[in-house]
Amino acid sequence: MENKKLVMIPGPTPVTRSIMDEMGRETVAFKDPGFVNDYKELIVDLKEMWHAEEAFAISGTGTLAMEMAVANTVKAGDSVLVVSHGFFGDRFIDMFERRGVNVDVLAAEWGTTYSLNEIEKKLEEKEYQAITVTHVDTATGVKADVEAIGEIVSKFPNTIYIVDGVCSTAAEREYLKEMNIDILLSGSQKAFGVAPGLALLWVSKASLERRAELGTIMDSYIDFDKWLPIMKDPMKYWGTPTINLIWALKESVRLIKEEGMENRFERHVLDSRAIEKAILSLGFGILANDSCRAVTLTNCIYPEGIVDADFRAILSEEGVIVGGGLGAYAGKLFRLGHMGNIDKHTIVSTLAAIERALYRSGREVEFGKSVGIYLEETLKS
Ligand SMILES: *Cc1c(COP(=O)(O)O)cnc(C)c1O
Repeated sequence: MENKKLVMIPGPTPVTRSIMDEMGRETVAFKDPGFVNDYKELIVDLKEMWHAEEAFAISGTGTLAMEMAVANTVKAGDSVLVVSHGFFGDRFIDMFERRGVNVDVLAAEWGTTYSLNEIEKKLEEKEYQAITVTHVDTATGVKADVEAIGEIVSKFPNTIYIVDGVCSTAAEREYLKEMNIDILLSGSQKAFGVAPGLALLWVSKASLERRAELGTIMDSYIDFDKWLPIMKDPMKYWGTPTINLIWALKESVRLIKEEGMENRFERHVLDSRAIEKAILSLGFGILANDSCRAVTLTNCIYPEGIVDADFRAILSEEGVIVGGGLGAYAGKLFRLGHMGNIDKHTIVSTLAAIERALYRSGREVEFGKSVGIYLEETLKS
């Protein structure tokens, strides 16, 4: 009998039945009064739950949300500071450079975060129109201290603070007002546990003021000004909404409300700490330093002698799909996503499959060790 495949990559993440059901509903007209009302309620929830001035949910991926943040914040000749903790932090650089924006980069060694002092020093040296920080970089599993950076950026009122939350929003704590974030951006397929296809943004008053200062921008589809009227009144049209994904996200947000935002953040902390211990017990290393590990994924460095392609092929036969390493870590680690609407069944099965794959790779394995540690940590602590 074949194993059911668990998709444990850092996005798309497993989609629960009730969210899938929304995607399977019969598609209605985008002016259908029921749908219009659902869309409106969703946007209000997004604004309220993340303490934002306005929110957007439009067709696209996380990368489009990044581009939308960039396009509505800076113009050619401006200067920006990119704080990068990996592959996705770097992705902003090209986006800015294509627009003729001057980019300064603070790139941390993979597995570590950039020091807060250095960030502050840089902001004091030069006026930046924006700063970008990737909350969790999926390439490294490193989490930035978004709140502490927000406190620093608050001393520089002309700098718009952009946070990439594609691999964190709905799992790591993020509140715009309290953390002084001007733009938080995300996608539907990671910690929201919806299929890919929605670009999400939350913006502050200062960000909207910056947009107004820019006048007409060169982009049309991703212009805040084109979408704001629709977010306020979805009876209006700009681009066809991904109707079924809007419903699916609404269901995801309902699940988040039912669980409670803070409870959800705590669940991710508890699960991720337990998974880390379980993974370490099997002889793997973890790329991100202990002090800056994300709750949404773990980048597991292979013990000596394990061949990445072979291991992931065996693990797939055992029913678990994980992501490969990126950049210099290609072949050296696998990336295990554990965010969104995953349950204990899924985590226990995943750890057991990793044990089976290690055994089949010729390793000594004490069966049940990592599962035991996970249960011990989540139930008895
Ligand atoms: C996945 C990811 C992206 C890109 O999102 P897409 O939906 O694949 O376009 C950007 N930033 C981070 C941190 C991510 O994890």
